[in-house]
Amino acid sequence: MPRALVTGITGQDGQHLAEFLHSKGYDIYGIVKGQNNPKSESLRNEFPYVELIPGDLADLPSLISAVEYVKPDEVYNLAAISFVAMSFNQAELTANLTGLGVLRMLEAVRIVGGSQNNPMRFYQASSSEMFGKVRETPQTEMTPFHPRSPYGCAKVFGHDIVVNYRESYNLFACSGILFNHEGPRRGLEFVTRKVTNTAARIKLGLQKELVMGTLDTKRDWGYAGDYVKAMWLMLQQDAPDDYVVATGETHTIEEMVQLAFSYVGIDDWQQYVSQDPRFLRPSEVDLLIGDASKAHAKLGWKPEVDFPTLIKMMVDHDLTWEAGKAGIALP
Ligand code: NAP
Repeated sequence: MPRALVTGITGQDGQHLAEFLHSKGYDIYGIVKGQNNPKSESLRNEFPYVELIPGDLADLPSLISAVEYVKPDEVYNLAAISFVAMSFNQAELTANLTGLGVLRMLEAVRIVGGSQNNPMRFYQASSSEMFGKVRETPQTEMTPFHPRSPYGCAKVFGHDIVVNYRESYNLFACSGILFNHEGPRRGLEFVTRKVTNTAARIKLGLQKELVMGTLDTKRDWGYAGDYVKAMWLMLQQDAPDDYVVATGETHTIEEMVQLAFSYVGIDDWQQYVSQDPRFLRPSEVDLLIGDASKAHAKLGWKPEVDFPTLIKMMVDHDLTWEAGKAGIALP
């Protein structure tokens, strides 16, 4: 059986990837940080086939131990401080984990596997936030980076160091430049999930208002379950490379809010939504839209879930979840 080592296994993408790799017959190992990570127990229940290994992206020896123990065929580096807003408040931590953490994982792979003819294949979770103040539209693998947050800056370092290790040590290392991808497993702090969850709570009478930052920002939103397939496909190619993974469609946050409220049966959504400057960022990324032609042509990858289906999936999940917690019977 092929063996995969996944960092960020407790996160949204880690869970989707575990499910997908399991369906492909992999032995899966996940690195979990902290001495009593609260997410470990639910992970063990939902994914009993994943072996959890202690480790931290800030601690190179723990990463070397994990790679030595697993001897993986494939390493997926998904762990990061991934919330852009938080990266402004904890910029140094973000640089250390989201940026230097990539270097540490690459070092673990290089040291354990040897620098030349290293059989381990490495995937790095790069981000469309690297494009920031976009230099062209749509964004491709060739679009220059102009990050607008400590998160984006740290991801640019991670991206560049993957290219450097590929060229310097001949590692099979790939970066997926993934545009926003969402789903019911998205953390509640992220804007899509905040909106679908709050719309559900308002519908159920559990909350009165949705407080937002900007509504004008445009994003290219896809479904996380589709995007993890692209990660895997990158590591099955003859040669390592970098790929944009996106839907090629962009929507404003306002459109997303309107759609989420319409799915819970509320058409006059403006009555429930207010804006608060507290949620504005020091510098914003106004527009992202990806051109995934290379992933289509070389990986044969295409997104399957469209934007309205994605938002409906999240709203439906949040209605059931919130109603269950509150003991409300749904019709
Ligand atoms: P997520 O849900 O926020 O998951 C982040 C993961 O990183 C969690 O499992 C977290 O573990 C782990 N982590 C944080 N600090 C760590 C540390 N010091 N050591 C080890 N693990 C640590 O993020 P996601 O949405 O799944 O995204 C996965 C990756 O793709 C991230 O690198 C993200 O930046 C990138 N990305 C995501 C998107 C998107 O739209 N989702 C787009 C582009 C790129 P605990 O929570 O257990 O601490």
